[in-house]
Amino acid sequence: MEDYLFKLKPYLNEFQKLEKKFENGVPHSISLDYKKHLGHIVFSGLIHGNEVGSLPALLKSIDDLLSNKLKYGGKVTFFLGNIDAALKNVRYLEADLNRSFGNKNSMQKSMERKRALEIMPLLNRADVYFDFHQTIMPCLKPFYIFEMNEQSYYWARAAGVAQTFVTRKKGSSFSAAGMCSDEYVRSLGKVGVTIELSEKGFSQESENICYNIIKRSLFLMDKVYGNKFSIKKLSHKNGDFEFFSVIHREPFSSPATKLKEGLANFNKVTKGMDLGWKDSQKTMISPKNGYILFPKYPTRNSEGNAIPPLPGEIFVLADKIKEHPLLWE
Ligand SMILES: [Zn+2]
Repeated sequence: MEDYLFKLKPYLNEFQKLEKKFENGVPHSISLDYKKHLGHIVFSGLIHGNEVGSLPALLKSIDDLLSNKLKYGGKVTFFLGNIDAALKNVRYLEADLNRSFGNKNSMQKSMERKRALEIMPLLNRADVYFDFHQTIMPCLKPFYIFEMNEQSYYWARAAGVAQTFVTRKKGSSFSAAGMCSDEYVRSLGKVGVTIELSEKGFSQESENICYNIIKRSLFLMDKVYGNKFSIKKLSHKNGDFEFFSVIHREPFSSPATKLKEGLANFNKVTKGMDLGWKDSQKTMISPKNGYILFPKYPTRNSEGNAIPPLPGEIFVLADKIKEHPLLWE
């Protein structure tokens, strides 16, 4: 924890210092406007507090824009989602910020809902939005993940860097609990993209992936909003994704439900494979062939029961899709 805060705090201080100069009215955000075109791109990190791996790249991008090392002609905003949770090295404090957007949760009173209400006006003014996340467990490769949407897909493919896209049909909400930030932006008819960089924490790998996506997407903004290029055409300069979709969600049915140790994102599993324990006695069997995503290992008490709040799912299974998701539309 000490080591984590030792790394985290200088980045947060640096962000705060820059925010004093480039604030836009929304706390924990910075906007730069080069006014050569009207395009506005928004980047975010720390929507989940302990997914700090994007932070060095967000700051490096701001520094490089200010020193003119990165050239850009439009408006760009960087914001940090949940600093309070980041300082405690947790995903969230009272409610998952990434399930707190939209109007479904108007009754919710959590600090994260309050934060979502601060951020929504900023997202309302975005044309393109990239949200950087990290997985809880080790991850074999970076991946884009969002509901299929033609424009957002072209932007992700054109930005590239990651070659994997986990997607789902339109209208199948990522989580029953509430809206994600990127989902909120797409609901406004704009481009919203989420990317999982790597396993959570600071790493050179996540910094590089994040910085390259930011650099690429600023370049694309100038092409699309400055020179009227089509994002579809620009996206075709990159190879297509390897597409996955979720085929199973395993509910976190009781506090005793538990996965075997050591499962990582994109580990291949086969139907019938023993993955852990459902409740205390029953074994948890993989119902299908596929690839593990988002395996969860919450803190447990001395009886082995997970300490609430329990996540909605203990893992999901994804599999490669054969038909191109553009054909879903
Ligand atoms: Zn996340």
